[in-house]
Amino acid sequence: MKMWKKLSALAVGAMLFATGIFGGIVVYQTANYNISQTISNYQRQVTSTTYAIGQEIRNNAPYGFGDETNRSFLQYTLRKYGGADYMLFQNGELTGNLTNYDVADQEAMPEWGMKQVSYVIQKSSDHYILIMGKQFASAGSGSYDLVLVKDISQIYNDIRRQAYMLLALYVAVAAVTVNIIFWVTKWMMRPLNELQWTAAALSGGDFRRRVHVRFRDEVGKVAEAFNKMAEQIERQVEELEEVSERRKQLLGSLAHELKTPMTSIIGYSDTLLHVKISKEQEKKALEYINSECKRLGRLSGKMMNLIGLYNDESVHFVEYQVQELFNRVEILERYHVAEKGMQLVTSCAMGAMPMDVDLMESLLVNLIDNAIKASKPGDTIDVVAVNNRITVRDWGKGIPPEEIPKITEAFYMVDKSRSRKAGGVGLGLALCKQIAALHHGHLEIESWLDDGTSISVVFDGPEGRMDG
Ligand code: ADP
Repeated sequence: MKMWKKLSALAVGAMLFATGIFGGIVVYQTANYNISQTISNYQRQVTSTTYAIGQEIRNNAPYGFGDETNRSFLQYTLRKYGGADYMLFQNGELTGNLTNYDVADQEAMPEWGMKQVSYVIQKSSDHYILIMGKQFASAGSGSYDLVLVKDISQIYNDIRRQAYMLLALYVAVAAVTVNIIFWVTKWMMRPLNELQWTAAALSGGDFRRRVHVRFRDEVGKVAEAFNKMAEQIERQVEELEEVSERRKQLLGSLAHELKTPMTSIIGYSDTLLHVKISKEQEKKALEYINSECKRLGRLSGKMMNLIGLYNDESVHFVEYQVQELFNRVEILERYHVAEKGMQLVTSCAMGAMPMDVDLMESLLVNLIDNAIKASKPGDTIDVVAVNNRITVRDWGKGIPPEEIPKITEAFYMVDKSRSRKAGGVGLGLALCKQIAALHHGHLEIESWLDDGTSISVVFDGPEGRMDG
């Protein structure tokens, strides 16, 4: 059974039960009230009639005359003060009956009290007869019973009619309410159904599907939380797809990059094994094999680094002074720069920032190595840290503007043969870009042909610092 059906059945059941009990009590109380009001009215009437007839008998009874005269007097008095609904008994004998009823069994009549008006209600076929009486005494003529006999079926009929009307009203209102509860519950449960469909769509791979949030009630909040979760899943799936795409490209490029040195190594080693060549040519072949093997070594080293960076767990952030970082890089690059007859000038106006020191060191070494490759002896290479950026600026050959967007791609080299000769494998800037991203930053490249290049790491995330 569906949730909305269960809920509405429960609400309808509770509502019908509560209103049914309430209606029943109201009908019962109203009926009781009406009957007791009627009875107490008649009780007052019987009391005053008893009093009036008693007075009349006391003052005007024809003492000393025969039974017939006495009976006529009593009948006259009963007609005068009582009326159509009364009977009068003298010493237990019926002396006057103005009602339409016969006293079939006088013994069955209740004993009437002196002090209060008592009554019984008799039900015969579909009639309710109220029999009410009071006893009074008159000195010299014995005791009297004044009895009122009244058909009060009308009151019961009215009560019954009211009860039926109320029942009909109850059924009509219940029918409308049941419908309303069903529809409202179904409507309120719609977001949950939508949630179910959207969850099914998500599990089927449609990560763009969202739940339409109509209200900010409990269900609305669940829908909102669900949408946030779906967004998160979508983002993560996109990231995973991106990483997997990058890895695929990387592997393709790697296979391509491996092919050339492997072909040369196989070619040269075949020649060495099977062709008779001079000592000079033999040496050259071995040198070539050696340099290609070294290149393969560098390639695999950088590849390992790059692949390692896709795994965030290998990155360890510490709060580290940028000046300290510069000192380490200077020590590493000192001989390399001097060997090329160049000069490395650093200037740091940044404080500390959270970083993976080894990775940041590797980033700067890569940028400086590229700057060295592009510069001539006597040139200067500036490394500057200010505001939220670290810049490596050289005054070398520069990069053609159309090449700038491509040089951060893995294995991309502007001049392949020259770069290879200089020991490049085309992975340095791809590595730098990845390291910058891990530090919530990005690379900005500016270059002027024959006037050098400036490559900056700009920290735009929480690790970025503006305390220059
Ligand atoms: P490589 O291992 O070849 O240095 P990189 O990814 O570091 O690979 O660089 C890609 C290419 O970008 C290089 O081959 C080079 O042509 C160009 N490049 C990078 N830095 C500079 C620079 N400072 N000046 C001129 N060209 C540069």
